[in-house]
Amino acid sequence: MDVDQQLGKPPITPKPHDILWFLDGNVVLATDTYLFKVHKSLLSLHSSVFKDMFELPNIGHESSNLEGPGRSDTLLASLSYEGVPMVTMIGDKGKDVAHLLRAVFEPDYYHRDNDETPLEVIVALLLLSTKYDFNVVRKSVILHISRHYPMTLQEYDALYINDPPMFGKERRAECHFPLLAAAVTADVDVLLPGLFLACSEFGIDEIFSKTQSMTRETQRTLMNGRESISCAKGDLISSLSEQLRRYDTRGKCQNETPCLKEAYFRDTGLFVLLPLGDAIGKKAVRSYISPICRGCSSVVARMIDENRAEIWKDVLSFFDLSEWEQWEDFQAKLKVIVES
Ligand SMILES: [Zn+2]
Repeated sequence: MDVDQQLGKPPITPKPHDILWFLDGNVVLATDTYLFKVHKSLLSLHSSVFKDMFELPNIGHESSNLEGPGRSDTLLASLSYEGVPMVTMIGDKGKDVAHLLRAVFEPDYYHRDNDETPLEVIVALLLLSTKYDFNVVRKSVILHISRHYPMTLQEYDALYINDPPMFGKERRAECHFPLLAAAVTADVDVLLPGLFLACSEFGIDEIFSKTQSMTRETQRTLMNGRESISCAKGDLISSLSEQLRRYDTRGKCQNETPCLKEAYFRDTGLFVLLPLGDAIGKKAVRSYISPICRGCSSVVARMIDENRAEIWKDVLSFFDLSEWEQWEDFQAKLKVIVES
């Protein structure tokens, strides 16, 4: 019965959008659910893809249907709608296009400083501004996201510990996977180091369930990076054990027999699997080193943090992002995007 009902269901006819339907508009954009009557000149001003399309002859005439010159991979010029040329946006959802067009046409709709902007708006803006080259919207949203995925360890730690609300979600961590998927699709490499790292901080079960719609290549990069960080923490333990034996604790140790001569790592397996955000010196000394005096604790915590800073430098290579570049190079790339 349900199947019959489904089969008998008429296809959804797109309806004019409540807000984005300007009576003096001179082009209708068609999506699965909405029609938008807007202005060619404004679209052309903001998007090179629309500009190129509108410069083609015959937009909106019957002769431009299908094989005509108005066809591109993403836009299809077709029969006019009530006398106005119509362009179908292939594969885009009406509500996502509404977010994009409102960000373009309404000055107050999207601000890159407003961290309460819903995640679905952020994702739609990133994907569609990239697909149609709305440059101003694209660089705003990239800059906005980048502020939440910093390129220094200090800033990373602050956000990891606080896990503040973000993009309409109670916890920032709820945004990592949808943003990674969008950044990969939109090919925004400056956002990838922070997003891959943030996603790799989850357990394997959660990673698998949250990356089901992502490509095998993205899943592989994420898991490889996660494994590399664990290996780096394993290396940290072995090099630190060696450093502790040789460390001269005179003037620092409060015990007669220097603690570090006999100190050892415990629960090393757990430490290796610990998110980088949790593997900080003070915490690690408390939970993963045999009891040592206060003086020695601060020495060891500092050593762990120094080793951790070295791991941070290698994050880009762990996620196959760059063999030669450093975080500073990615910061420079971000600057180029924002200033373009
Ligand atoms: Zn001591």
